[in-house]
Amino acid sequence: MSSSAGSQRSVVEVDAVVVGAGFAGLYALHKLRGQGLSVTVFEAAPEVGGTWYYNRYPGARCDVESVDYCYSFSTELEQEWDWSEKYATQAEILRYLNWVADKLCLRDGITFNTRVTSAVLDEETLRWTVTTDRGDVVSARFCIMATGPLSAALTPDFPGLDSFAGELCHTAHWPHETVDFTGKRVAVIGTGSSGIQSIPVIAEQAERLYVFQRTPNYSVPSGNRPLSDDERAQIKATYAERRRLSWRSGGGSPHVAHPKLTMEATPEERREAFEKRWQLGGVLFSKTFSDQMIDMEANEEARKFYEEKVRAVIDDPEVADLLIPNDHPIGTKRICTDTNYFQTFNKPHVTLISVRKTPIESIDATGINTSDTHYDVDAIVLATGFDAMTGALAKIDIVGRGGQKLRDDWTDGPRTYLGLGVDGFPNLFLVSGPGAPAVLANMVLHAEAHVNWIADAIGYLDAHGYAAMEATADAVDNWVAECDRRAEATLFPKANSWYMGANVPGKPRGFMLFIGGFGVYLDICNEVADAGYKGFELISAP
Ligand code: FAD
Ligand code: NAP
Repeated sequence: MSSSAGSQRSVVEVDAVVVGAGFAGLYALHKLRGQGLSVTVFEAAPEVGGTWYYNRYPGARCDVESVDYCYSFSTELEQEWDWSEKYATQAEILRYLNWVADKLCLRDGITFNTRVTSAVLDEETLRWTVTTDRGDVVSARFCIMATGPLSAALTPDFPGLDSFAGELCHTAHWPHETVDFTGKRVAVIGTGSSGIQSIPVIAEQAERLYVFQRTPNYSVPSGNRPLSDDERAQIKATYAERRRLSWRSGGGSPHVAHPKLTMEATPEERREAFEKRWQLGGVLFSKTFSDQMIDMEANEEARKFYEEKVRAVIDDPEVADLLIPNDHPIGTKRICTDTNYFQTFNKPHVTLISVRKTPIESIDATGINTSDTHYDVDAIVLATGFDAMTGALAKIDIVGRGGQKLRDDWTDGPRTYLGLGVDGFPNLFLVSGPGAPAVLANMVLHAEAHVNWIADAIGYLDAHGYAAMEATADAVDNWVAECDRRAEATLFPKANSWYMGANVPGKPRGFMLFIGGFGVYLDICNEVADAGYKGFELISAP
């Protein structure tokens, strides 16, 4: 790292700037440093962890099994860390990330409490000038956006929200001090994964709990439990194989779908397969059969099994009618992973309010006004999600060739090549960006795959004497068309999901991810690299 005095501020020169210190940014720092690059990381939060630093609401856990939702690049890390439960708590995952940061001596490369506000390309030098809200100015050859697909929290514009006099918490910015709901009347707005994880835990404390549901969601019990010493030993002994299966899989976990298509299986085989997945727990239910997300008839079989399971645990059939989705195929929004979610509505102090029937009209000092009632509450929990995939990037002034801003290029929807590169933005890389499988896969392996690909690409540029690489406009157009084509062949566009940008008022509609499967996607990325970075222009030193 070197420093040169500018006319006003000192400009630090590095090889690479990484924005974000979650799973992706931490690994990027480690990997690129290992390759001999000078790297500086900026992180808006005061600590490492990203998602797991912010989302500390009651009940927060991973929904990919802990033993899979952790770094695979180091056998030492895999063997030394002991996960205590099938699905680790937020606190345990954050402890893990802090442990990794210490073990790999990463902290000295990270500037905390510092938000990157702009990244501007100098077309003459092909370097990026990165500036922060604390006045840092860094010149970097490579700019790596590890800003997270789910890091820009979404707060709906409820009239009067600011006037609420009680406690107001967003699940994605949960306070660090303990929030005690004992003896309180609490409202939770939102029934996505965050709401569904937190509602049963909040219900245990609160005197009254009102759940405001807009769209009912599919949720499958996690079957969470402690891992025994024997299980941990068994997993550690077979980690290599577990990871091998995960890298080849559709979603980055070592579980494979039933060998038959849904309707090829006999009714008994189907039931047995669904039951097995139900027992496995959570989000993987949507992948019981390989055609479940493509074929409506197959999807309907899964949905019927689901409905039977859920109805069986809800006492009041009218409440069950409200809680069981009827407006989107199962799995077209991420299936939630819960512990006693539906059973919570059997408790006499818990009330479900459908805001489709009685919309929230305003919030005042004492609570929530729907179209028919005022709900007096002491606390409101917003479990209202994120401006996903593009939200964090749109907050940064990313300025490429010709003064073009990334957010302006994306007004009709994000456009990338492989979710990694964008035309007009040489040497700017996205980690888990739109156009990649990203949140459809185990995001830790996904981040590793992206960082490895970027590191290899940088190595290739250096080995061949190139200064930069830039996705071509054709490659971006073709990739966007390919992602659209694959999405249209599935049931995913049928849901008003955040995958589609549907949860943010005014956001363009379009499926923002590569749906073709994690293993398939990695093959494509490798083919691109093996073909000398096909679809990227390799640019000689200016
Ligand atoms: P993040 O962890 O989001 O980190 C991005 C970091 O960038 C943040 O710390 C942010 O502060 C920082 N940043 C952003 N913009 C700027 C800026 N301008 N300047 C400086 N810093 C900036 N995925 C799974 O695969 N399995 C799961 O079980 C799972 N559970 C989840 C549970 C919750 C509650 C949520 C919200 C998401 C979950 N996800 C899960 C998705 C999760 O986001 C990823 O798994 C993973 O943690 C993302 O890591 P990341 O490093 O890419 O991004
Ligand atoms: P989400 O899935 O987008 O859910 C947000 C909820 O808020 C939805 O029920 C939504 O209703 C509701 N909502 C939003 N605006 C509203 C409004 N104006 N009025 C009423 N309701 C409103 O967000 P999330 O629950 O935070 O989860 C986002 C993603 O993060 C997940 O899909 C998952 O990938 C990840 N995550 C994972 C876990 C885990 O289990 N490990 C936990 C949390 C998050 P609509 O559905 O009608 O829009």
